[in-house]
Amino acid sequence: MQRNEELYKGKAKSVYTTDDADSLILLFRNDTSAFDGKRIEQLDRKGMVNNKFNAFIMEKLQAAGIPTHFVRLLSDQESVVKKLDMIPVECVVRNIAAGSIVRRLGVQEGLELTPPTFEFFLKNDELGDPMINDYHIQSFGWATADQVAKMKELTFKVNAVLKDLFLAGGMLLVDYKLEFGVFHGEVILGDEFSPDGCRLWDVETREKLDKDRFRQNLGNVIESYEMVGHRLGIHFD
Ligand code: ADP
Ligand code: UDP
Repeated sequence: MQRNEELYKGKAKSVYTTDDADSLILLFRNDTSAFDGKRIEQLDRKGMVNNKFNAFIMEKLQAAGIPTHFVRLLSDQESVVKKLDMIPVECVVRNIAAGSIVRRLGVQEGLELTPPTFEFFLKNDELGDPMINDYHIQSFGWATADQVAKMKELTFKVNAVLKDLFLAGGMLLVDYKLEFGVFHGEVILGDEFSPDGCRLWDVETREKLDKDRFRQNLGNVIESYEMVGHRLGIHFD
């Protein structure tokens, strides 16, 4: 597949057009950002690890009946995906309180959330990705009511599949962020699922194994991502 011009350069990935109008190539770079892009560092092997991690998870989700943009791995750091019209919102499900909800609501980190809770955020770094609700999404025309319902339904379906998958590897899926887009009229899962966009804790020790290691300067960031992958049976080399 031919990699043509760069369509968009995000904080962690670059998006390229291809010789097929319906397909894009995602290049997973080593850039690692936190705090809405205010801190950026290069972490060796990250692009390759997240690319292969994402491929594994997307294939599991696809097999469970969740439509995704993932087509195939192209190289260590590249994947072919379906070209989506992205909906500019982030869908977050939380099984356990951590991160921004702890700061916003003054709750204890580690509190189990029953039922799991759901939040929408607007994808806008300049505004610091503000939290929004279903009405905002419809009133400002970011998505229709049906698309909002579909995003919620699919985000919770992902929870059902991935909570068990991670638990089988001795990990708690604390929270995660998904992005959706529209492909020929259908809402499907886009972007990536990797330890960059979720929280994973060891079930016994509650050690943080995700991007919080970078945010909180805990060290061994990519070593942790690789360990998570190995626990799921992913081979990186
Ligand atoms: P950010 O834009 O948050 O800095 P990335 O560096 O991950 O994030 O950039 C990837 C960009 O590609 C994101 O804006 C994401 O919405 C977009 N994207 C992901 N998957 C697709 C897809 N299948 N079609 C079109 N755009 C996509
Ligand atoms: N998240 C993400 N991208 C964002 C914001 C959040 O991938 O721009 C993920 C984050 O890694 C976590 C979940 O979404 O798994 C919830 O994030 P939270 O709202 O707690 O924000 P944070 O404190 O991580 O900035």
